[in-house]
Amino acid sequence: MAAREESTSVLWFRRDLRLEDHPALLAAAADGAVVPLFVVDPALWGPSGDVRRTYLLRSLRALDADLGGRLVVERGDPARVVARVAARAGARRVHVTADAGPYGRRRDDAVAAALAADDRELVRTGTPYAIGPGTILNGSGKPFQVFTPFSRAWAQHGWPDPAPAPGAVTWTGDGEGVDGRHWPAEPDLGDLTLPEAGERAAHERWEDFLAHGLAGYGDERDRPDHDGTSQLSHALKWGELHPRTLLAALRRQRSRGAETYRTELCWREFYADVLWNRPETAREYYKPQLAALRYDEPGEAFAAWSEGRTGFPIVDAGMRQMRSVGWIHNRVRMIVASFLVKDLHVEWRHGAREFMHWLRDGDLASNNHGWQWVAGSGTDASPFFRVFNPVTQGQRFDPAGDYVRRYVPELRHLTGKAVHTPWEAADGYAHGYPERIVDHAHERKVALDDYARLRS
Ligand code: FAD
Repeated sequence: MAAREESTSVLWFRRDLRLEDHPALLAAAADGAVVPLFVVDPALWGPSGDVRRTYLLRSLRALDADLGGRLVVERGDPARVVARVAARAGARRVHVTADAGPYGRRRDDAVAAALAADDRELVRTGTPYAIGPGTILNGSGKPFQVFTPFSRAWAQHGWPDPAPAPGAVTWTGDGEGVDGRHWPAEPDLGDLTLPEAGERAAHERWEDFLAHGLAGYGDERDRPDHDGTSQLSHALKWGELHPRTLLAALRRQRSRGAETYRTELCWREFYADVLWNRPETAREYYKPQLAALRYDEPGEAFAAWSEGRTGFPIVDAGMRQMRSVGWIHNRVRMIVASFLVKDLHVEWRHGAREFMHWLRDGDLASNNHGWQWVAGSGTDASPFFRVFNPVTQGQRFDPAGDYVRRYVPELRHLTGKAVHTPWEAADGYAHGYPERIVDHAHERKVALDDYARLRS
């Protein structure tokens, strides 16, 4: 076999904004010098909220610093832009981490075709997942529709070790620095604060969690009042860390916490797999029979939900947490989602869109399937008749009321779990907290009646 000619290739970064454990970078470096590229694609940038835009820009800035200011940032339709950058660099190959989402797959096919027209190649190496979506099949060669058997097959299949470091990479390219003309300006987030972005910060958070959080994770993960989860969903979303890196570290830990954490990572893989096999479920119902359920239009009640003024303390704390840090605790995501669908009778798609607007970790597969799980229309869904009671959920998972007091200042004068029932305190509404906008027991019955009608 002839030795490969040393040349220049392009590494087009997308959801892999890191330099460690990066198989596509290894593949690019094997070609010779590497032009690091990021394309601001209007099809993705447009619909993103300011929170994700800001986080992405900060992560790109960190990556650019790690690349010695060489990151080439371009703007426009990738099929046109990537082909142009490759031609300018004289690169025969453009390397990427494969995208598993419906838009990303279509876009990459278009980019591959544009490159091929100029006798160039798009080379896909690895995915943002431990096991590429579409790989795990059941005994009949079909995709799994239920999480538990998927997770068993996923663990049995196993995944590769983290990719080795590429050695010295010759980064080339005309990165213009963060003030370059194609770098978008950073949006103004007002009071909303984000964690530090970038690969180094993600590793630090992970190391901290390994040392102080993992052992107790099995018990703590359901407590929104504690800092008991890893808060790495945004780092995984943007590929500042690869799940392989985390799974390799978990292998060295023997605790219930490590086991539970592996299972949570598997949920991320499962939903990506579901979306791969049923790409239409990015927007449509996984179980189409639920699509005919009666819903209300999102009006004033939806606005109250979104702004955290429903009069149900745990719901309002969750929605205000989202607006103050771009993240909500998983337990509270389920509570607020259930409230929107089953107490306010608003279709899950409106809630999913609102989440995608505000969340720093907004991810099509995990978000839309998380919503469909709650709405009863997804894979392995919670049965529709299981309606979260926002008061008892608050009392159980925020037993001392600290979570609510952190995000709802109008209730800070109430002590302990009294914060979950301001209507029982003589001074519950003394500081302007709103009254409940619905009667939970009544709305629960309405939801269940609607469901019974649908089934009959
Ligand atoms: P940890 O508890 O530390 O978990 C570790 C990692 O496992 C997470 O970072 C995440 O990548 C993965 N994970 C954990 N739980 C889930 C889950 N239920 N589904 C998929 N992956 C999971 N997650 C997103 O990353 N993006 C979303 O847009 C998103 N939207 C959601 C919407 C709803 C209605 C619900 C119920 C859940 C949603 N989730 C989403 C899943 C989950 O809430 C977040 O991944 C988790 O809260 C992130 O916090 P963490 O990193 O501290 O999680």
